[in-house]
Amino acid sequence: MKYLDEYRNPRLASKMLERIAEKTSRRWTIMEICGGQTHTIIRSGIDRLLPDKITILHGPGCPVCVTPVHIVDKALELASQPNLIFCTFGDMMRVPGSTADLLSVKASGSDIRIVYSPLDAVQIARDNRQKEIVFFAVGFETTAPANGMAVLQAYEENLENFSLLVSQVLVPPAIEAILSAPENRVNGFLAAGHVCTVMGYHEYMPLAEKFRVPIVVTGFEPLDILQGIEMLIAQLEKGTCRVENQYRRAVTEDGNLHAQRVLSELFDVTDRIWRGIGMIPRSGLTLKEKYRRFDAEVRFGLGDGVVSESSECVSGLILQGARNPFDCPAFGIRCTPEKPLGATMVSSEGACAAYYRYRAKTLERTG
Ligand code: SF4
Repeated sequence: MKYLDEYRNPRLASKMLERIAEKTSRRWTIMEICGGQTHTIIRSGIDRLLPDKITILHGPGCPVCVTPVHIVDKALELASQPNLIFCTFGDMMRVPGSTADLLSVKASGSDIRIVYSPLDAVQIARDNRQKEIVFFAVGFETTAPANGMAVLQAYEENLENFSLLVSQVLVPPAIEAILSAPENRVNGFLAAGHVCTVMGYHEYMPLAEKFRVPIVVTGFEPLDILQGIEMLIAQLEKGTCRVENQYRRAVTEDGNLHAQRVLSELFDVTDRIWRGIGMIPRSGLTLKEKYRRFDAEVRFGLGDGVVSESSECVSGLILQGARNPFDCPAFGIRCTPEKPLGATMVSSEGACAAYYRYRAKTLERTG
């Protein structure tokens, strides 16, 4: 297939669904790890079209959703400072911190700018040398190389007024945490194709072996997802646990070596807190000592304040596949995209937002 429409072809989708049904002899639980895949699954109704024996769980692969509250609070503190321009991608603007969000801070007069690339923030730093420029560096392995390149650029130009507020996280340790949990019920994973375009998929092989789960690197269109599920079911029924690559048009086993070199030049691996989930060892990136002056937390001496989150929000359990958005009593009633209680309702990749947008605006039990 060469064109996007072909990956949305309903006739091919029906055939794949028939084959999946024929192959499925018992109950299996599959987790997709990426918020983009969550939206495709819910938007196209894949979870409802699959045989009843297959349960789809949504994993913690939405970067906005897993950015912890204490980092959002630091973003709010920085953005409120005079003589500072805070730069962010637009999807972080409405993520609730303990007491506010970036949109409300901007409305009260702070200089917060939505950018499309960290290099835009570097340009703002060049153009405003009398001001401090901070870029909110959130995301997985997909965003980290570009953020690293921005720091390299600033380093080479000796730009003294540019820094990153870093909240970069890594996918394989999150998969390990989910599989290690005593209540884990995931039998197989769809790995996120875009992360693997950068990192390849060799990192998943020890996980598949250790936990005896098949992992299929999968793309984002409906037929990508169905094919990824078909490949997983074939392995599950046979009792194999290999890493396979459905997304061959974009992903190789080794990934993008240049991007990986940028990551290892700029960042060290560190423990990171994931919103709603807690600390996952060695699941994040932090700037290396050589580039520490570009780390906004160090530069501005930010401390951890008192963090508070909605006591109603169960997004942490949703991100670990332990709850469905419809299980949340606030869904569509006290929590909507216009008035979100948790990040999974805000983000364009969040599971709660996907259910709200494509299923129902009020509570609907899936039975
Ligand atoms: S519906 Fe809202 S309150 Fe409930 S889990 Fe989702 S984000 Fe949290």
